[in-house]
Amino acid sequence: MTTAAATGHDCIVPGCKREGRNRLGVRCRIAHDGPTLFPRKGKTAAFFSPDAEAYLCDHHALAGATITLFFEPNNSKQTTLRVVAAATVEERTTDIKQPT
Ligand SMILES: [Zn+2]
Repeated sequence: MTTAAATGHDCIVPGCKREGRNRLGVRCRIAHDGPTLFPRKGKTAAFFSPDAEAYLCDHHALAGATITLFFEPNNSKQTTLRVVAAATVEERTTDIKQPT
């Protein structure tokens, strides 16, 4: 029996059956003290902060993760937040042989 009935959301981690009680989102914050395009917004105010339709259980919210963010400009005056949860992504780093 899943525990997702309280919020109606499952954790996005593949194979996890816990309740997704924590919502993922992204913010674009003002990171300077100079004049901004929005005079009433000061440093750390957000230009946008969309939430995703993606939820984590308490365990996965606290267990640690690697987040890869792709920013794809599209001139739509909107933000779309797409979350892809992967259980395993193979990553390999190799040295490039340098000329001597
Ligand atoms: Zn989970």
